[in-house]
Amino acid sequence: MQRFDSNDPTAPTPSKPSVRSGASPFPAPRHDHEACITEGLARAEETCRCRQERLTENRRQVLELLLAEHRPAGAYDILARFDWKGRRPAPAQIYRALSFLETMGLVHRIASRNAYVACSGPGEGHGTVFLVCEQCGMVAEPGAADLGRTIHELADVFGFEHRTHTLEVMGRCPECMLTGGA
Ligand SMILES: [Zn+2]
Ligand SMILES: [Zn+2]
Ligand SMILES: [Zn+2]
Repeated sequence: MQRFDSNDPTAPTPSKPSVRSGASPFPAPRHDHEACITEGLARAEETCRCRQERLTENRRQVLELLLAEHRPAGAYDILARFDWKGRRPAPAQIYRALSFLETMGLVHRIASRNAYVACSGPGEGHGTVFLVCEQCGMVAEPGAADLGRTIHELADVFGFEHRTHTLEVMGRCPECMLTGGA
């Protein structure tokens, strides 16, 4: 088997696809979202502990704001929602926190939206492929190990050294397909 560089060298759990084939990576319309937030924060604590980093108050709050929804938020949205506790808003602090969280693989940048989404769970190929719903803005992160290997092999054919890749797939999520609409 070809070696495949996942985007995430830091995942505390062994690499395995985060989604079984056939299971939707999109959350069910009415799911226990509190659990998503709790798990996301627990994973962040664990990741930081493994890498001897600190989930500071700023970092934690930015992550929590992103975990609030399965949709990406821009830096300015975060800036507006951030609780500055009477201090003057400091955009640089938001950017630093985002950059840290991205490096840790806890949030991912969605280039087409110029925004960030909280990681929905590590797995092989995690952080490399995103399904972006153009209707409701929901973003899902399917396990993409097979696709990663395909891209690796494709690059290999042309003597190109594959380091990393990001793919954003635009379309409609299952819920929007069900409820119809344009
Ligand atoms: Zn959720
Ligand atoms: Zn992820
Ligand atoms: Zn949708």
